[in-house]
Amino acid sequence: MRCNVSPTITRIESTEFSYPVENVGYSDGGFSLVYEPEGEIERKLFGLRIRTDEGITGEYVGGNSPAFAQIHMFANHLIGKNPLHRERHWSEVKRALRKYDRMGMGPIDIALWDFAGKYYDAPIHELLGTYRERLPTYASTYQGDDNGGLDSPEAYADFAEECLEMGYPGFKIHDWGGEWLDTEKTVATVHAVGERVGDEMDLMIDPACELETWGDALKVGKACDEQEFFWYEDPFRDAGISQHAHRKLAEKLHTPILQTEHIRGLESHTDFVANDATDFVRADPEYDAGITGAMKIARIAEGFGLDVEFHAPGPAQRHCMAATRNANYYEMALVGPKCKNTQPPVYLGDYVDQLDAIDSEGTIPVPDGPGLGVEYDWEYIEANRLGGRVYE
Ligand SMILES: [Mg+2]
Repeated sequence: MRCNVSPTITRIESTEFSYPVENVGYSDGGFSLVYEPEGEIERKLFGLRIRTDEGITGEYVGGNSPAFAQIHMFANHLIGKNPLHRERHWSEVKRALRKYDRMGMGPIDIALWDFAGKYYDAPIHELLGTYRERLPTYASTYQGDDNGGLDSPEAYADFAEECLEMGYPGFKIHDWGGEWLDTEKTVATVHAVGERVGDEMDLMIDPACELETWGDALKVGKACDEQEFFWYEDPFRDAGISQHAHRKLAEKLHTPILQTEHIRGLESHTDFVANDATDFVRADPEYDAGITGAMKIARIAEGFGLDVEFHAPGPAQRHCMAATRNANYYEMALVGPKCKNTQPPVYLGDYVDQLDAIDSEGTIPVPDGPGLGVEYDWEYIEANRLGGRVYE
């Protein structure tokens, strides 16, 4: 609750921790997560706490190692500053990290928004301006495997049908990668899923930049055209950053292209759109400089008359989408028929990002408590601590 007009950041703590994910492994020769019976991987995440002289703590759990290495470059600068001056901090840190991708801004900005929500006793979506409180959700699959999970075009079609029966209005294929990369099998999967559920669901495909050539990207795109896919995302090995390649691809396809997940920054997103190199716009509050950065991207998309699709599930994404008209879907990733999502077990309340979290209408709620509206399990995080830093 609001106590004085000028709160001050007194201490910032980052904690690296790990947690296990069962029945999951890596694609053959690749880096992507797939179903693997009896498999188990250890995932690493970070917990961030921004303490203030109000006794209110801004919190966020997520992020990645490059982001937290960048946080180490500027966290001291924030001690003694007003946590409500987000635009000022955003601008200063953007300049300070100008040689890098500025990914470190995300977790800090999200934690500052969490502070603000607790300070004003309001959920973040209310501070942003609420547009909706239920979010239409699509099932976004694991990459394909060769382990008895999503291992064939029919397996994808079966799982899409299962998701449709659960109430999902949309389904996105992440196809095969690494040694399992097979363009013809992906084309067959686009047709199998399209023929099975295409009349009843919006369908998308994200090869996650695995396809080796622009020509392969065109082949898969032509299949998407035939099946009237809703979007086609990050197809090939430019790693998602070539404006020229995607403008050329868009000229040859009817299916809308979705790019900008792998470029960083407001101006870069704007240039991508202005150069006709994407149809849908991607934003992620973790990757794109926080809720502040993601909402700026959402508004430039709105200004161009386009839609923004927020990447990945999470409480910050839910608040952003709740405050955005021009967005179609919340991404429930990663899901599969035989293993659970990789989301960390760090929520004490009823917050959940799993396949069965939707209602029968295929929607998911927006947390309505103050700030992010989630309560983190710091005992679990501390019990699984790998290391950390304190700034004060
Ligand atoms: Mg993607």
